[in-house]
Amino acid sequence: MSEKTIFQKIVDREIPAPLVYEDELVAAFNDIAPQAPIHVLIVPKKVIPRVGEAVAEDQATLGALLLAAGKIADKLGIKDRSQGFRLVINHGKDAGETVPHLHVHLLAGRDLAWPPG
Ligand code: 5GP
Repeated sequence: MSEKTIFQKIVDREIPAPLVYEDELVAAFNDIAPQAPIHVLIVPKKVIPRVGEAVAEDQATLGALLLAAGKIADKLGIKDRSQGFRLVINHGKDAGETVPHLHVHLLAGRDLAWPPG
């Protein structure tokens, strides 16, 4: 079996990280190197290395990631359209993926440039 990712160790509570959100399928915690005043990582409890490797049976988990984003935004008071947030998923080298455990970045709290870098 391949070595656990840092995110799996956080999900399994082997590495302490306060959870911003948790349900049956996903967990969320603050990014260690935030790129915005709010930078939360939402990860599936089931290890899916990256989004393009998800399979049909992961449909509920993929949906849970986005539903969690909405709930977290609500909890943090940034769901109102006058504020807002951005979700980012990096798949592979060119996108800048560094941790091979699917994660959704939730970024907010400043003007986010478009297009992204
Ligand atoms: P990626 O570049 O793969 O899309 O994003 C990986 C993210 O994980 C980065 O934003 C990085 O700062 C974050 N990260 C890496 N190691 C840790 C860690 O040990 N704890 C937390 N909370 N975030 C981490």
